[in-house]
Amino acid sequence: MTGRKRSARPPLSIPDRHVSARVQRFPESVIREMTRIADLYGAVNLAQGFPDFDPPKKVLRAAQRALADGANQYSVTWGTVGLREAIVAKARRFNGIEADAEKNVVVTCGATEAMMAAMLSVVDPGDEVIVPEPFYENYGPDAVVSGARARPVPLVPPDWHLDAERLKQAFSARTKAIVVNSPNNPSGRVLTKEELALIADLCDDHDTVAITDEIYEHIVYDGRRHLSLAALPGMADRTITINGVSKTYSATGWRVGWAIAPAGLAAALRRAHDFLTVCAPHAFQVAAEVALGLPETYYTQLARGYQRKRDRFVRALASSGLGCTVPEGAYYVLADFSEFPYPDDRSFAMALVEQLGIATVPGSSFFSRPSNGARYVRFVFAKRDSTLDGAIARLAELDRLREPRGRRGSRPGQRRPRARRPR
Ligand code: PLP
Repeated sequence: MTGRKRSARPPLSIPDRHVSARVQRFPESVIREMTRIADLYGAVNLAQGFPDFDPPKKVLRAAQRALADGANQYSVTWGTVGLREAIVAKARRFNGIEADAEKNVVVTCGATEAMMAAMLSVVDPGDEVIVPEPFYENYGPDAVVSGARARPVPLVPPDWHLDAERLKQAFSARTKAIVVNSPNNPSGRVLTKEELALIADLCDDHDTVAITDEIYEHIVYDGRRHLSLAALPGMADRTITINGVSKTYSATGWRVGWAIAPAGLAAALRRAHDFLTVCAPHAFQVAAEVALGLPETYYTQLARGYQRKRDRFVRALASSGLGCTVPEGAYYVLADFSEFPYPDDRSFAMALVEQLGIATVPGSSFFSRPSNGARYVRFVFAKRDSTLDGAIARLAELDRLREPRGRRGSRPGQRRPRARRPR
């Protein structure tokens, strides 16, 4: 310790006075933390949103070929020409978005970096950014890093519709941007044309930029169609459309995403992206180009396969006593454990790992006010049928967690961590 006078600061979330106030303001990702806990307990990992199966063989072979053929150095900072052209073609084919590969497209290290670069490009410290909630947990730290003041607007359970009145009230002269994630992680909600039209009208009225995270666009159920906000009249000029290969092609480790934006914003994004990461992995950009050219049948089979998994998993949750709204898209279920005697989501999630060997994400990590998510845990069902079989068999024992609090404790079937938790 130094003898220097200390200013009154909130307690440090990382106990090191050299760490910036900015980073002290956001926690470790709960999603990634639960994955580590899953590994420690040998649990089925239904926490982090990645499939436990590979991308299509044709796409895998393209990646192997690209590595062998020398795509091992930096690519053009904002993406290979081939991938940018493939993104333009796909956006025209599926989204009704017209873009120019030279002016409007930026390839990034996943949608994650695209969102960070978009926020840094649009937001000045103190600007407000509207974020419908529950929301993907990364948006919180994205707001902190860019200096945005996040303004949450509820998606209302049980059907998670957008609260139109609260949305209208949230818009003001201070609103710089709105983040729209449909299909939504974690609620599974797919916004309707009417909801998107309301957002478009409000963006127009308040000269607001829409940043859309459409990473689950092809994972929609029961005949629904994903609609891109940028395709609505007038919205192409004020929308940054974010997407990537992670979910559609089961390639979360490849770290290839992109943004399509009006020319001025795209130029800004290219700058932010250049100094954040230089470029996305070159060989995987080459392979992504092949992925984006897959035929229509690939996409219909993807949605159909996930719908089958959804139906099985939701049935299993219902028969084990967990309430949930059937997701309309994406591959998550937000389950309500109110019938179980646990004070909060973290204690229920830990009981699920320790006693049943299933890892989930505590619901509070998707809400600005943790108490709003305290009766939910999120399950991922993007898993092989055999993995889901194992999880469903364990869920059948969920009644073991109904014992009143205080009488639980170590029991014969209780799992022990395999090693000390790394910290
Ligand atoms: N956006 C949403 C809504 C997500 O759920 C996720 C991952 O779970 C991502 C972005 C991350 O995408 P990427 O892997 O392309 O960075």
